[in-house]
Amino acid sequence: MNAISNDDVRIINWIKSARVGATKIMLASTGYFAEHKKRNQLFYQPTNGDAEDFCKTEIDTMLRDVACMRDIFPDVGKKSKNNTQTLKQFLGSTLRVLGGNTPTNFRRYSSHVNYYDEAEAFTHDVGGEGSFLLLGDKRLEGAIFPKSIRMTTPKLKYGSIIEGEVKLSDYYFKYHVPCPHCDEKQVLKWGGKDCSYGFKWDKGKPETCFYLCEHNGCVIKNNDLYHMNEKGIWRDEDTGVQLDAEGRFFDKNNIDIPTPGNISFHIWTAYSPWVQWSQFVSEFIIATDLIAKDGETTKLKTFCNTTLGETWDDSNDTERLDGDILYSRREHYPLGGFSKRGLAIFGGMDMQDDRVEGSVYAVGLDNETFLLEHFILRGDPSQSQLWDALHVKMTKTYTREDGQEIPVSRWCFDSAGHFTTEVYDFSKQAGEHFVIPTKGASVYGEPLITYPRKRNKHGVLLTMIGTDTGKDIVYNRLKLINNDNDKPAPGYYHFPVAEWCNKGFFAQLCSEVKIPKKTSRGMVMVYDAGSRRNEVIDCAVLSLAAYKISIDHYGLNLSMLSEKAEHPERNTKVKNSFLDVAKRLNRG
Ligand SMILES: [Zn+2]
Repeated sequence: MNAISNDDVRIINWIKSARVGATKIMLASTGYFAEHKKRNQLFYQPTNGDAEDFCKTEIDTMLRDVACMRDIFPDVGKKSKNNTQTLKQFLGSTLRVLGGNTPTNFRRYSSHVNYYDEAEAFTHDVGGEGSFLLLGDKRLEGAIFPKSIRMTTPKLKYGSIIEGEVKLSDYYFKYHVPCPHCDEKQVLKWGGKDCSYGFKWDKGKPETCFYLCEHNGCVIKNNDLYHMNEKGIWRDEDTGVQLDAEGRFFDKNNIDIPTPGNISFHIWTAYSPWVQWSQFVSEFIIATDLIAKDGETTKLKTFCNTTLGETWDDSNDTERLDGDILYSRREHYPLGGFSKRGLAIFGGMDMQDDRVEGSVYAVGLDNETFLLEHFILRGDPSQSQLWDALHVKMTKTYTREDGQEIPVSRWCFDSAGHFTTEVYDFSKQAGEHFVIPTKGASVYGEPLITYPRKRNKHGVLLTMIGTDTGKDIVYNRLKLINNDNDKPAPGYYHFPVAEWCNKGFFAQLCSEVKIPKKTSRGMVMVYDAGSRRNEVIDCAVLSLAAYKISIDHYGLNLSMLSEKAEHPERNTKVKNSFLDVAKRLNRG
C-alpha cells in the first residue's frame, strides 16, 4: 500500500475483517522499511505469546523465503544475538516484535515505524502506565518520519479504541468499486433483508447469492469482483477526497491536495479474492439460525467482527428484561408432571450466609428448558442440619408426565463467599461429579465453563464460570417468544404456575442489566444488579453450567434420552440397572 510507504502519512488506522491479507501487507511493509529506508521498527502484538508466535510463523518465514531479505539480513536461519524471537538485526536497522502487555516493552527502544496488530485485543492500560498507543507512539519521538500503523479486527462497539482513533483521522477511506453494468462507484455493503441493495440470496441457498447495485439495482456476480477491484479507488465519503493506486491524494474536482498526516481505512471480506461470497453468506445463515434456535448470539457477533469488519453493538441489550412479562407467560404444566420434552435435570445453587438457594431445570432437545423448582433452605451453614436437609433436597426426583421419576443429574454450587470449605466438603460427601463447586470468573468474556483438568489442592473439581457469558445466554433465551407451549420450542424457558414462581422470583431473574464499566481492557459492558437481589439469575446460570459440563465432560446425549423417552419399551436394560433396582428396593 502506497499510504504506508508515503513518509508524510504519520498515522494509519486500518479496520478490517479477517481474510483480507492484512498481515501480509504489514509483513511486506516491514521488509520495505528495512530494505529501502533502513528504519528501526517496533511490531507490537497484543501479548508476548502472540509476539513469539507471530515471529515464528510470519517474520521468520518471510526472512527465509523472500530472497531480497538475505542481502540485508545476514543471520537468516541462524540463532544469534542478531536473530532472536524478539529482535531482527538488519544491516542498518532493527525490527523488534514485542507483546503489548508488558510496560518494559514500551521503554528503551526508539523507533521510526510502529505496528499494532489486532489493536482492539490489546490491554488498554498497560500496567497502569497508560494507553498502549500513547506509550508505543512515544517511542517514535525523534524520528524524522514517524509512522504509527494500527491494524485491527473490530470487537465491541462500546469502548472500541480504534473507532475513537478513526474519529481523529483526516479522512476515512473506503474502497469504491464500479458496478460492471452501470459503472456507478460504490462501497460494497452487507445490506440486510429489508435493504434495497447489498447481498441477496434465495432463502437457505447461499450458492444463489449475488450483489444488488446500490444505484440501479443491477445484479452483480462474484465473478465480476476481480475487474471491479482492479478499477476501484479509496474514497472518503464526507469530503469526496480520494486516494488512487499510485498513492495520489486529490479532491472531488480532481485537484491534488497535500498528503494528510492521519488517515483510516476500512475493508471487509466482500472484497477478498480468496473468499467466495457464498461462503460468508452461508456463515451468516448459520449464525442467524442459531439465534432463532436458542438466542445464542456469539456466532453473529463473530460474523459481524471478522467478516463484516464492524464493531458489535453491545449497548442494545442494556435494557432490563421485564419480569412482569415473564410472569404473565407462566404455564400450567401437564397434570402428571413436567413436560415429556424435558429429558435431563440440572440444578444450580448459591450459598448465602443464612441459607442456600437453588433452582432446578429440566432440559430438552435444542436447549428447551423447563423450570421445575426454586427453593430456599434456611439454616446455619456451620451446622450439619442445613447440609442434611440440602442433601435430601438434592437427591429427590421429579415426576415427568409419562410417569418417569427423574433425579437431578448434576449440580453446580457456587463456592465463592464465606463458606467455601463447607461447599467443598459437601461436594466430596455428596459426590464430586454430582456436586461441582464453582467460582465466577472475574474477567469479562470468559467461556461459560472452564472445567479443571484435575482436582484443586482442596481435592475438588473447582470449575470457573463465565458468569457474564452465562447471563448473556440466559437473557437472550428469555427474550425468545413461543406461541404454542405444546410444541417443541428451541431455547425457550418455560415457567410453571406455582406459588413460589411469583413476581418476586421474576424480579430477581431479571435483576441484572448491562452497564459500562472501566476495566484494564478499557470500557466494557458488564452485568450489574444494583441493590437488587440476584440469586435466581445466578442459580439459572449455574444450572446451565451443570448442563454444559454434563455435555462436554460426561458424555450427556440428549438425543439418546429423547429416543428412550419416545420408546420406553426399548428401555428395559436401563430400567433394570443396578441403580434402579436399588432405588425400587429402597422405596419398597
Ligand atoms: Zn449498477
